[in-house]
Amino acid sequence: MGYIHVKNKKGTANNNPPNGYSSWLDFWEKKKGKKATICEARYCNGTPDVGGHVIKAGQGGKEYILPICYSHNNKSENEEYEAWESDLVPVT
Ligand SMILES: [Zn+2]
Repeated sequence: MGYIHVKNKKGTANNNPPNGYSSWLDFWEKKKGKKATICEARYCNGTPDVGGHVIKAGQGGKEYILPICYSHNNKSENEEYEAWESDLVPVT
């Protein structure tokens, strides 16, 4: 475990969280059992505004939730950034 490259998954704006979760950020916090306190993108000090949908760069397919700031959430699916791998919560 360590930092890995991730990028935003496109086409998730209308993707609602599962029943019992008020948002994807709430989903992440409940799965992790802790509050999101900072944007999880490495070197960013932004607030964790949303639970962003990301994939591991180069691995395609599998989707994860990561608390990120609006700026990171607005990055295109071609822009990679780093995140702590153990803070990725799989979307089931
Ligand atoms: Zn950020």
